[in-house]
Amino acid sequence: MELPAPVSLKQPLYVPNKTLMGPGPSNGSQRVLDSLSNPILGHMHPESFEIMDDIKAGVQHLFQTKNTATMCISGSGHAGMETAFVNLVEDGDVVLLGCTGLWGHRAAEMIKRLNGDIRYVEARFGRSLTMKEIEFAFEGHKPQIFFVAQGDSSTGILQQHLKEIGELCERYNCLFVVDTVTSLGGTEFLMDAWKVDMAYTGSHKVLGAPPGITPVSFSERAIARIRSRKTLVKSYYLDALLVGQYWNCFDLPRIYHHTISSTLLYGLREALAQVCAAGRKNVITRHQECSHRLQCGVQDIKLEMFVPNANDRLPTVNTIKVPTGVDWRKVSEYAMTKYNLEISGGLGPTAEQVFRIGLMGENATFERVDLVLNILHEAIQSTKLQEKSKI
Ligand SMILES: *Cc1c(COP(=O)(O)O)cnc(C)c1O
Repeated sequence: MELPAPVSLKQPLYVPNKTLMGPGPSNGSQRVLDSLSNPILGHMHPESFEIMDDIKAGVQHLFQTKNTATMCISGSGHAGMETAFVNLVEDGDVVLLGCTGLWGHRAAEMIKRLNGDIRYVEARFGRSLTMKEIEFAFEGHKPQIFFVAQGDSSTGILQQHLKEIGELCERYNCLFVVDTVTSLGGTEFLMDAWKVDMAYTGSHKVLGAPPGITPVSFSERAIARIRSRKTLVKSYYLDALLVGQYWNCFDLPRIYHHTISSTLLYGLREALAQVCAAGRKNVITRHQECSHRLQCGVQDIKLEMFVPNANDRLPTVNTIKVPTGVDWRKVSEYAMTKYNLEISGGLGPTAEQVFRIGLMGENATFERVDLVLNILHEAIQSTKLQEKSKI
């Protein structure tokens, strides 16, 4: 007997229009959304290759790198992260993880699977790592790879001193891997000048493209390390030498490695084009000014930022302490039910403790900052009233 087709699929597709001001994804611009309805192209068609070349140039510009091994992975930010480690880590390699929140620990979950020798250097709660802490950890562990998230979206912490860390890594002949998923485009990042060996970012945070395609870049030193591996990279799909050949990184003929989504290429190309048209530095400044305005507004409504030191605050994901007696879930629900606005709670080490407000891409405007502040204030007042009426 044939199983019947699901009744739900007889209904038309319904997608609400939400304002996404959590830690990502962010809203896409009309130009990005429009690009997604273009016809699908083959993954080996010359028109697709041209779009891939445009994307590569845009990503090199945003990372400020001349790395030829700059490409995209078909997958979300996690796939970029896994690409770093599956290519660079071999059995027993000492990997030092800088932790300012959840993401160092998420990296550990991947490195465990590769039999890497994991060590940690943990920042004090709510702070970024100091050079002293990092230097001390390097002396003790002599790592082959050092990882840190420039922006940790679980805590809203911006890791400073990347230039100094790059120099330290060079002295120790250690590869330097940086997660820029939530930070790129919202704060300065200079891959070559800071001697970063591998960086990845997200398409759906500051850039405002759809999730599912992740820009990554490897330095020559990193590519040399991959070429000298004793064992095969343990993932075919994420093998940087194969993906890189498809992305025309190595002066070798392009190969069919997998079917890339042409639709996602269109969205990412247009998102990059918009950042380039506005100017990379202007976009960064806009994000910083928006975060500053939010921080001032937070004070005005008698709330407190989670990260005490202003220099340690990530402009793109802003963490605000949940006031005592307030249930963050109710606040978040109120904003979504009444205004279709996403305000997130904490994650990992900040669970139950903070609101996370994303100011990224289309949502990094003064209008959106004021909107989210007004709604956050109203939502908190309303949940307080509810509590009172219960008593
Ligand atoms: C969002 C995020 C990721 C993961 O991205 P996904 O697209 O959800 O897989 C990784 N690192 C940081 C810092 C992030 O904010």
